[in-house]
Amino acid sequence: MPSLWKLLTPTMIVESVKDDAIQPDQLKARGVTAIITDLDNTLVPWRHYEISPGVVEWLAKLEVAGIKICIASNTVHTERLQQLADTMRIPFVDRVVKPGTGGFWRSMQKMGSQRENTAVFGDQIFTDMLAGNRMGLTTILLRPPLSKEEFISTQLVRYVENYVIRRLRARGQWPAAEAVAAALEALPDPRSAWVRAVTWGSTLSFLGGLVALWRWKRPR
Ligand SMILES: [Mg+2]
Repeated sequence: MPSLWKLLTPTMIVESVKDDAIQPDQLKARGVTAIITDLDNTLVPWRHYEISPGVVEWLAKLEVAGIKICIASNTVHTERLQQLADTMRIPFVDRVVKPGTGGFWRSMQKMGSQRENTAVFGDQIFTDMLAGNRMGLTTILLRPPLSKEEFISTQLVRYVENYVIRRLRARGQWPAAEAVAAALEALPDPRSAWVRAVTWGSTLSFLGGLVALWRWKRPR
């Protein structure tokens, strides 16, 4: 059983779909012929419908090279997922609950791929990377994520991610990516006063909401 740290460590990090490491020849050199990809903040900004020319170009290159791709997203907005997948002309699986691995198995079934030749591409450590590493797949982290706009709970998870990245870097376990290192330095330190304030503030308001709900539901 690999350590939790190992399960959170991506095989490699890329800054964009234009990165050399995820072009067809490099992927093939690694033995990767199928990709399970995340949607939000990986292929399109969160909640957006526009697909950037860079992504369109990358998908076309993969298709020409015969590398398969399938979207596995945690989104509950299946219509948007379907619409985007149709526009990109790639298959998708829905009702995915990463870091659960069910959606990834279904993606592999759809693509007819095996563990040895499948890679995961996504922007989150605790969903995309963890699920992929649990299955022993090649894991490719997009860093920084496509946009800064995110679901409130994801924003909080980012602080925990930053902590994990710092720990992994201190252990010398974080894959080298010099340009990304600079971007990480610019992120707020999870130990800083305002980050602690935001985390505590949101935790307390969540608990306050639960109490209010309980009082409201309680028969008088
Ligand atoms: Mg994402």
